[in-house]
Amino acid sequence: MRQRGDAPSAAPPECRDEDAARAFLERLRWPDGPLCPHCGARGAYRLKPKPESTRPVRKGVLKCRACRRQFTVKVGTALVQSHIPLNKWLEAVRHLSESRTPLSAYKLHKLVGVSAQSGWLMARCIRQALTPDQARGVTYKKALAKMMSPKPRGTPPPRQPRGDRVPPIGL
Ligand SMILES: [Zn+2]
Repeated sequence: MRQRGDAPSAAPPECRDEDAARAFLERLRWPDGPLCPHCGARGAYRLKPKPESTRPVRKGVLKCRACRRQFTVKVGTALVQSHIPLNKWLEAVRHLSESRTPLSAYKLHKLVGVSAQSGWLMARCIRQALTPDQARGVTYKKALAKMMSPKPRGTPPPRQPRGDRVPPIGL
């Protein structure tokens, strides 16, 4: 079935995989180098996974020299609790910001290749970043920068729809 006008522009390199997406978001969030989201200090270093370790370090984990706490580029942003790969987030923002017509969560899940639940969650989160004054002509990078800006305190994280939590049947 042909769907004229639905073809997205060529995916930018940062959408290629999660490592590329993480590096892109780190540059976007911290153009002058990582800033600790816990204490605000600079001078964090990257934890390197050691092959002999029984508890391997997750990719993208940084450690603050001042407060010794660990963080990633997602800490303090709307994406902190998301397990969806970062490149999928970039893809979703790209589709939503480039689409000339409103894009449903269902369409997004098909386009990005995530579950329907994830598509719903992503659409909700990204739409919150695309405020009405930005709705016209909002760019992909502007929307991303908004999503990666620190969340105001007390902002509840986006939740999965209730349908995701199916109670067990019987006792
Ligand atoms: Zn710190």
